[in-house]
Amino acid sequence: MNQIHNPSNLAAIDLAHHLHPFGDMKQLGEKGVRVIARGEGVYIYDSQGKKYLDGFAGLWCVNIGYGRREIADAVSRQMNELPYYNSFFGTTTPPTALLAQKITAHTGGRMNHVFFTNSGSEATDTWFRMARVYWAALGKPTKTHVIARRNGYHGSTVAGASLGGMKHMHEQGNLPIEGISHIGQPYWYAEGGDLSPADFGLKAARELETKIDELGEDNVAAFVAEPVQGAGGVIIPPDTYWPEIARICRERNILLVADEVICGFGRLGTWFGHQHFGFEADLAPVAKGLSSGYLPIGGVLVSDRVARVMIEEVGDFNHGYTYSGHPVCAAAALENLRIIEEEALVERVRDDIGPYFAAAWKSLEDHEVVGQAESIGLIGGLQLAADKSTRQRFAKPDDAGVAVRNHCLENGLVMRATADRMLASPALIITRSEVDQMIETVRGGLDHLREQRLP
Ligand code: PMP
Repeated sequence: MNQIHNPSNLAAIDLAHHLHPFGDMKQLGEKGVRVIARGEGVYIYDSQGKKYLDGFAGLWCVNIGYGRREIADAVSRQMNELPYYNSFFGTTTPPTALLAQKITAHTGGRMNHVFFTNSGSEATDTWFRMARVYWAALGKPTKTHVIARRNGYHGSTVAGASLGGMKHMHEQGNLPIEGISHIGQPYWYAEGGDLSPADFGLKAARELETKIDELGEDNVAAFVAEPVQGAGGVIIPPDTYWPEIARICRERNILLVADEVICGFGRLGTWFGHQHFGFEADLAPVAKGLSSGYLPIGGVLVSDRVARVMIEEVGDFNHGYTYSGHPVCAAAALENLRIIEEEALVERVRDDIGPYFAAAWKSLEDHEVVGQAESIGLIGGLQLAADKSTRQRFAKPDDAGVAVRNHCLENGLVMRATADRMLASPALIITRSEVDQMIETVRGGLDHLREQRLP
């Protein structure tokens, strides 16, 4: 191995020149960076050759697993044929048009158009403008305000970070921008008090109605939420929540935006998360699983209700990215969707590996430091608790999550912690024995936390 590719050398080069996203560089300088060099199936390998089961599918995105040569081949073919052309000025490319057809085909006939972006954050900025343009075109230019949720995540651009409900993001850069309000999240374990989950779900949803009344219906353009709140801790709403939200949006004439960046493309055992919960979205940002992360691409799925106005009334929508519908990224996404269809991965999550994972994940609820273990399809949230009988949480939630996460990492499993919730989101191709391996390692992490005797 030549000098420059020596692993410790690479880590040093990285630290000297690379500012990491969501990274504390001073702390990283002390702890060091891991160099991930290779991936195969659900496994990744660092530059020292250590193998990890990736329980998080990269960043909730590698739905078909690592190392799929079909994608590399499709990308290579497209690179040789046409590496780039734009979709401005009335042009398109073959993979761009075919991808638009293929994605929209999975929306049950309701969302027949897509606007392409490069990421989930850009998708957020796109629907945010589109929602306002939609109402202005209908002669309601005051309908501009957007309601989102505390602890939601919608990206890191100015609109994305503003719509997200993360305090630590708002504190940097004078956010949120004007015209955005937040309501509570349907996080029963932490905020449900004495209410049953069903009653709490209704209460959390009705905060939307109160906020609309406060702002005035004529000033509100849209409500946005993730079907299952991901980065906020895999918060799975009670069953009563989404039907009530959908009712309110319908009756109050507010666009309902389902952020499908994590939930889309099979994660919940349906093509899109809103299909699992049985509600209809007017706009739906997507990214991640669209290409399984092999190349950056995202988009906004647009319902016929909104598309009609955009096409018939708006005319020019003065918005777009140089790489909107990039042909090579579109070719990667097309091949990814072909694999998901051909291997019936959505059905596999719904009928086979999802139920298997659900039972295994639920078994962790027996553990003394686990308050609740919930999952849908292949997304799971594990609530850590200091005293499960009273739903009492650890005094320093971050310390509890980090203890479990680090123990898992040392033992070859990548897991994520959001405060005192452990998050799982493995590739959709994970096998039963790999699920068993994952659960066993998490259990080891929980034993380790118990031994810490944290207050
Ligand atoms: N929305 C959701 C629900 C997300 O989870 C993310 C990314 N984690 C985004 C939007 C932003 O996507 P990106 O990082 O591709 O900009």
